[in-house]
Amino acid sequence: MPGGTPSADGRLHLYPYMKTMVLGAGESGTGAAILSRRAGSEVFVSDAGRIADRYLRELTEHDIPFEHGGHQLARLLEADEVVKSPGIPQHHPIVRSLRSAGIPVISDVELAYRHKGGSRIIGITGSNGKSTTSALIHHICRHGGIDSALVGNIGVSIARQVALNPKKVYVTEISSFQLDDIRDFRPDIAVLTNITEDHLDRYDHDLDNYIRAKFAIVRNQSPNDFFIYCADDPVTTRSLPSFQFLSNPLPYTMKRELPRGAYIISDRMTIGGQEPLTMGVQDFSLRGKHNQYNTMAACLAASVMEIRKERIREAVTHFESLEHRMEKVATVRGVVFINDSKATNVNSTWYALESMTTPVVLILGGVDKGNDYSLIIELVREKVKAIVCMGTDNTKLHDAFRDAVPYMADAGSAEEAVSMAFRFAAKGDTVLLSPACASFDLFRNYEDRGHRFRKAARDL
Ligand code: ADP
Repeated sequence: MPGGTPSADGRLHLYPYMKTMVLGAGESGTGAAILSRRAGSEVFVSDAGRIADRYLRELTEHDIPFEHGGHQLARLLEADEVVKSPGIPQHHPIVRSLRSAGIPVISDVELAYRHKGGSRIIGITGSNGKSTTSALIHHICRHGGIDSALVGNIGVSIARQVALNPKKVYVTEISSFQLDDIRDFRPDIAVLTNITEDHLDRYDHDLDNYIRAKFAIVRNQSPNDFFIYCADDPVTTRSLPSFQFLSNPLPYTMKRELPRGAYIISDRMTIGGQEPLTMGVQDFSLRGKHNQYNTMAACLAASVMEIRKERIREAVTHFESLEHRMEKVATVRGVVFINDSKATNVNSTWYALESMTTPVVLILGGVDKGNDYSLIIELVREKVKAIVCMGTDNTKLHDAFRDAVPYMADAGSAEEAVSMAFRFAAKGDTVLLSPACASFDLFRNYEDRGHRFRKAARDL
C-alpha cells in the first residue's frame, strides 16, 4: 500500500511502501518517525538510552513500535532506509553495521525535504549565529505575511512540522550533522553564517571535513536558488572555490560596497537589488557586530522572498532577541547583567566582548572544548576589569588570563559567580556571562546555566 502526506499546497504526495528504522527518539527522531508513519511506511524506532516520556507518549499515540535501552541489530538490518538522529556519531557501531549492510542512512531534513511538496525551504547553517539568523528570518517572513514555520535545532523538528502542520515556507536551522546525511535535500535559499573550529571531535579533528559538511547545504542547489554567505569570514571565502554550486551567490560584508548582496559601510546597511534597501544599524533591534552580520543575512533572505522593504525595516527594528544570546536580564544599582550563556566557544565570546561599550566583569568557564584563548586576549585586556571563572577546573583560564586582567576569582555556582562579579563591578559596568565553554560540569545545559544566572542577578 503506498502512503501519502498532504502538503501545504493541499496535494497528496504518494510514496512507495518502505520499512523505515529511526535511530534515536529525541525531537528529530520522533518527528521523523511520525512523518514516515504518515507517509505510509512501516516504522520502527530504536534508542540506546531511555526515551523521554513525552516522546514515548507520542510514539504510542501514532502507533509506532519502538525499543529503548539498546539496539537489536537484526531488526534494524531489515530496514530499507534508516533515519539517523544528528546526535548519533557516524562511527557508532550500529551506524557502521547498517552502512556496511548497504542500507541508506539519511537525516531528518532529507526525509522532510522529500515530503514537503511545493513548499520552500530556507536552510541556515554555520558555526555561530544560526538560531539568531533563523529566528530573525522567520520573524521578517511572518511580518511580511508569509506562512512560515521556524524549525530545526531551534525547536520543532522540520519532519514533525511537515507531518503535522505543513507550511508554505520552512525556515530551518540545520547543523552539520544533519547535512552529513543528505542526498537530494535542496534549500531554495541557503545561508552559511560562518565557519570556525567547532565539533571537530565529530570530524576526525579535521577542519576540512567540517567545511565539507557545511558546504553540503549548496550541493544540490539549482540556478533558481540562492546562496547567502559572509564574505568577511576567512574560512568560507577560502573554501568557496573548492565547491561547485549552481545557485546565485549573495555575499554580505562590512569591507566594501557590492553590486549584489549586502554591505554595511559607515553604520549603514545596503541590501542590493534594483531598488536597494538601506537602513542605519542604530535601528537594528539586535546589538553587536555579529548581529549586524546576522541581520544582513536575514535581510538578504527576506529580499529574495520579495518581502516589501518597509516590512523588512519594521521587522528588523522590532525583533526581540532570543533567550541566552546577549540577553539583558537585569540592571542592579547601575550594573547591567547580560546573559550570553549560548556562547559555548571562543568565537562567540569574541563577538560578545567586541560589542561591549562599558567596562566588563566577565564570567567565563565550564567544559573547555580545546579553546585557544589567545583569540580574545586583546579584547580582554582592553575591556575586562575582572574575570570570574565558573567551572570545576579553571586552571587553563588562570594560565591564559593571569597577566591580562587585574582580578580573577573562582566560583562553583551561578549564584556565587553573580555575587562575586557584582562585587567587582561599579555603577555603569556590565557583568557579562559569555563562558566560551560548554556547561555540563556544573549545569544540565546552557539554558539551565542562563536561567540560573538570570535568577541570581534578579535576586541580588
Ligand atoms: P547557533 O545557533 O549557531 O549556536 P546563536 O544564534 O544561538 O548561534 O548564537 C550563539 C552565540 O554565538 C551567541 O552567544 C552569540 O553571541 C554568538 N554569535 C551569534 N551570531 C554570530 C556570528 N554571526 N558570528 C559570531 N558569533 C555569533
